[in-house]
Amino acid sequence: TPQHCDVLVIGAGAAGLMCALTAGRRGRVVQVIDHANKPGKKILMSGGGRCNFTNTGTSAANFISANPHFCKSALARYTPADFIEMVERHRIAWHEKELGQLFCDISSKLIVRMLLDECQQAAVRIRTDCAVEGIERGADGFRVRTGHGLFHCASLVIASGGLSIPSMGASGFGYEVARQFGHAVLPTRAGLVPLTLSGRHQERLADLSGVALPVEARCNGQAFRNFMLLTHRGVSGPAILQISSYWQPGDDLRLDLLPGHDPLQWLRDMKRERGTSELRTVLAEVMPKRMAQRLCEHWLPDRPVRQLDEPQLKQAAALLADFPLVASGTEGYRTAEVTLGGVDTRQVSSSTLESRQVPGLYFVGEVLDVTGWLGGYNFQWAWASGHAAGQAA
Ligand code: FAD
Repeated sequence: TPQHCDVLVIGAGAAGLMCALTAGRRGRVVQVIDHANKPGKKILMSGGGRCNFTNTGTSAANFISANPHFCKSALARYTPADFIEMVERHRIAWHEKELGQLFCDISSKLIVRMLLDECQQAAVRIRTDCAVEGIERGADGFRVRTGHGLFHCASLVIASGGLSIPSMGASGFGYEVARQFGHAVLPTRAGLVPLTLSGRHQERLADLSGVALPVEARCNGQAFRNFMLLTHRGVSGPAILQISSYWQPGDDLRLDLLPGHDPLQWLRDMKRERGTSELRTVLAEVMPKRMAQRLCEHWLPDRPVRQLDEPQLKQAAALLADFPLVASGTEGYRTAEVTLGGVDTRQVSSSTLESRQVPGLYFVGEVLDVTGWLGGYNFQWAWASGHAAGQAA
């Protein structure tokens, strides 16, 4: 005999738990199932264990989607202030790091605890270690076969996330369900992910692993000013993670290695004031010494600044302001924070997150083709989309 509920949520992650507690508060009988051994695993590992749970500056401009307007409705109806209100009600201490990013003072465990407490208060049932074997739709709702028996529900919410960090339980499950019910799934790829270098760039930069410097990374009309970290395989750090979501193999990727400076003016000043100094020496005052040395070994003239004529100064300035970085690929889903692409939003209602093809079927969170920047935006999308579906399902 099937177990009945009004709303069955597949995926006990950020979006699924928010959806469940919202529907539960409305008096719906809600069951959450997850194949992992505990809920909210990605929340636990997020933000270096402190969960960057939202961003106070969240707007549609911080998201990547084939349908850039889609996220607006849900984001407008559940804002960062709404989530902060819940965090404060649970007496979780938080702080703003930079750029509107809010983190827990102590641990991301507290966010999971909060969501589970809210679920409990709303009488939501949660079953972990529960794998889905098949879904069928009948006249009166959905039948979901699982390792824990058959569930019958009126509304089915797919909150199974994207493909990043497969070791944490990520799967292509949500995309398969979408296709089963006639939804288009846009091509997926790793986002917010370190980039790998190959060839000369790899050879010349690999041993600088651990060096960090501020840059402005630019690609396909987007620019992010933040730190870049050199790794033994390539480049990472917030500026690179951000731009990685806009980059695809073959795309032109540029770095301003002296963001905020006018490099030509600066080089002319150095020539006038410090002419006898080597270029590598003056450069080492505005960037890490090892980076300055490496640039002068391979890309810039390794000479005293006064020996550089105006065309050479211009050439050096152009390289510093617009360094072409040849990335060969990304580190892939193993280390990516998010999955770009996913369930095509054009067949989903932006206000309720309900399928336009199949009444009663909902998609929330990262499984959809909505991907935020680094900085708490992905959780804000999970909360907002989960909340919107939880009010409708
Ligand atoms: P998830 O939170 O991934 O939840 C999906 C759930 O579905 C999981 O519990 C999974 O086990 C379950 N599931 C999957 N397949 C099945 C199946 N077949 N059957 C049953 N259950 C299934 N974002 C931020 O905003 N701030 C951060 O600080 C941040 N840090 C991050 C750090 C790391 C290392 C990573 C990987 C991501 C980080 N993110 C961060 C991104 C953020 O974690 C995700 O965007 C967010 O968790 C997506 O929420 P979701 O509910 O859609 O999916």
